[in-house]
Amino acid sequence: MSEPHGRLLVIDDEQGIRDGCRRVLAPEGYAVDTAGTITEGRQAIEAGGYDMVLLDVMMPDGRGIELLADIHQRDPDCVTAILTGYATVELAVEALKAGAYDFIAKPFSGDVLLLTVQRGLERRRLLAEARRLEAVERQAAALARDRDEIERLERFKSSFMLMVAHELRAPVVGAQSLLRTLVRGMTGELTDPQREILDRVEARHAELLDLINDLLALAASKSAPPEAQMTSVDLAPVLQEVGERFRPQAEAAGVELVVEASDRLPHIRATKDDLAMVLSNLIGNAVKYTPRGGRVTAEVLVGKDEIEVRVSDTGIGISAEDLPRLGEEFFRAGNAKQSGITGTGLGLAIVHQHLDRLGARMEVESDLGRGSTFRVRLPREA
Ligand code: ADP
Repeated sequence: MSEPHGRLLVIDDEQGIRDGCRRVLAPEGYAVDTAGTITEGRQAIEAGGYDMVLLDVMMPDGRGIELLADIHQRDPDCVTAILTGYATVELAVEALKAGAYDFIAKPFSGDVLLLTVQRGLERRRLLAEARRLEAVERQAAALARDRDEIERLERFKSSFMLMVAHELRAPVVGAQSLLRTLVRGMTGELTDPQREILDRVEARHAELLDLINDLLALAASKSAPPEAQMTSVDLAPVLQEVGERFRPQAEAAGVELVVEASDRLPHIRATKDDLAMVLSNLIGNAVKYTPRGGRVTAEVLVGKDEIEVRVSDTGIGISAEDLPRLGEEFFRAGNAKQSGITGTGLGLAIVHQHLDRLGARMEVESDLGRGSTFRVRLPREA
């Protein structure tokens, strides 16, 4: 059986009115219950579930108006209409004051009854919709407050990070140059164990400086609004330049680095710095996470609205479990940490910031132990 159009309760001591209401309303798809006394009516209301109640005012055991408060307390959206044989203005006003929505003067025709019920149920539907919208608005306001708070904390975190990284950089760079003096034997010959220890100190120092530089880059990417600096950028030379920057590192690691970018690529709307930062993080990672004998390829595919830069490698890959977390600040995949390859877990967070500024998207596919492909889709210049 299909759902009724509405559940109605008719409370009236006249059998004729109860039967008449049922006769008119049931064929129209309404489920109609009836009650012949106030007591019966009260019981039915307590059981609940009515969309609309039609109430006689004068009953042998009381006045229908007395039930209005009960009905509305149970369900504030339940619509009530008074059936009155004494269609006086005072009674109507009293009923409306007590929360009734409408009244019907007896005797009434089937059409008037039907119209009143349809109008009443429409009001109920609108009330429910208004309530739903109010709830959505309240939720939206709460979310907006949460978002403002998160943005405030995010700004605080960025400026704190920027300040700390700034303060740390100078002493770390100073200590590094002093270390170099020692390592190069400028203060006297070193024994082998001394040299070994100093080499390790120098390597740890380099990691520290990487972290500081990444923190500075991340803070910088979050601050300056890019719109004003956007220009028409030729992707090919930027990609080639970044590729050349990593060539010595790739050669030293025994990794073949192939950069394929034709000279006649369409331009993109970007800032060169954002673009270079994205490409150097992706190519740098690909070289870093690819073992000796592997291959890194950076290529460009031109689409109708977008240009795709694809950086793929035959490196250590990323597990399906870790993939969704790439780009979280400080996140490093389990296999990268175990491999002994050092990193800060900030590079891809920086990439995401720059991609946001460029209105670009990134997708990553990876096969653990076999390699990864990072695709960046950049909007073509109009
Ligand atoms: P990190 O400084 O650790 O390289 P990133 O933010 O650049 O930090 O990258 C986050 C993590 O994503 C890395 O630690 C590594 O686990 C994984 N990752 C990124 N690029 C690659 C890649 N080309 N191959 C395998 N793993 C990668």
